[in-house]
Amino acid sequence: AKQRGKANWVRYAAGMEKPAQADAQLGGELRRALDAGEFALVYQPIVSLVDGRTIGVEALVRWIHPERGTVSPAEFIPAAERTGLIVPLGRWVLRETCRQAAAWTAEFGPDVLEKVGPNVSVRQLHDPDFVADVRGALADSGLPADRLVLELTESAVLRGHQVLKVLHELHDMGVRLALDDFGTGESSLSLLRAFPAAVVKLDKSFVDNIELDEEGSAAAGARQAVARAVVQLADALGLATVAEGIENQEQADRLRRLGYTVGQGYHLGRPVSAAALTARLAAEQRV
Ligand code: C2E
Ligand code: CA
Ligand code: CA
Ligand code: CA
Repeated sequence: AKQRGKANWVRYAAGMEKPAQADAQLGGELRRALDAGEFALVYQPIVSLVDGRTIGVEALVRWIHPERGTVSPAEFIPAAERTGLIVPLGRWVLRETCRQAAAWTAEFGPDVLEKVGPNVSVRQLHDPDFVADVRGALADSGLPADRLVLELTESAVLRGHQVLKVLHELHDMGVRLALDDFGTGESSLSLLRAFPAAVVKLDKSFVDNIELDEEGSAAAGARQAVARAVVQLADALGLATVAEGIENQEQADRLRRLGYTVGQGYHLGRPVSAAALTARLAAEQRV
């Protein structure tokens, strides 16, 4: 009920009925929040399924609203995309991710976090300053380009020639690109040929219940088949994989047997503050 209350607040800000009006209101509210410094990043570990080591993090944005508390991105990212506010917000996410990642590299050495991944919206890819923003975020932070893994959804990548040009420019800079929520789009396979991806993230929907016995559950059998096909395709194309949304050890074991060596999910680590992630990395170093 609490979640729903928040969602309604975002969708019908100030009691406005029309989505366009509500968006305009929310767009203004997001702008104010950005200027007031109300956004924060949390970091979810990306973990080796072989030895349990934290090899990367995904950066996820939160809105710390002074009255409403923490608002999830599912509630404001769509409106930020429709109003265009995602461009300055995404720029902040990018810069903050690079700054934090460079700080971790300075503290723990270059071998600790192989990759840090902010999410990037299609609107950002259409912004003419995007490539320059990425270059600036790397230069100002000192983060090597190959540590940055931009997470893009298939639908974002599919939007035509101009986007593909931007992706190739990023690729040429040494930045890595990850296809997020892989398998949920319509043309996953053909996309992989045109797109300079380095990482494929198997969508959580294929991980849910994947641990069930295939004899007892046709759905589990089908998910295992898709998961296996994705990792085999990725291996053949020289791409890394991350299995998303792992919620128990049985799923981790099953994915490991299917060929996955890297995973992400609540069982391996929930999204946490930068300070908490620092503590996790420090604890791993002591082992
Ligand atoms: P996503 O990129 O697919 O991110 C994964 C989401 O799944 C995150 O939710 C994460 O907390 C959640 N998750 C991770 N492991 C598990 C698990 O084991 N079980 C379950 N049930 N959930 C898990 P979050 O943080 O609420 O983000 C939701 C979406 O919002 C993201 O999906 C992404 O599309 C978007 N988003 C988040 N931060 C940003 C951002 O900075 N920029 C943009 N453009 N989008 C963002
Ligand atoms: Ca993501
Ligand atoms: Ca995802
Ligand atoms: Ca998703």
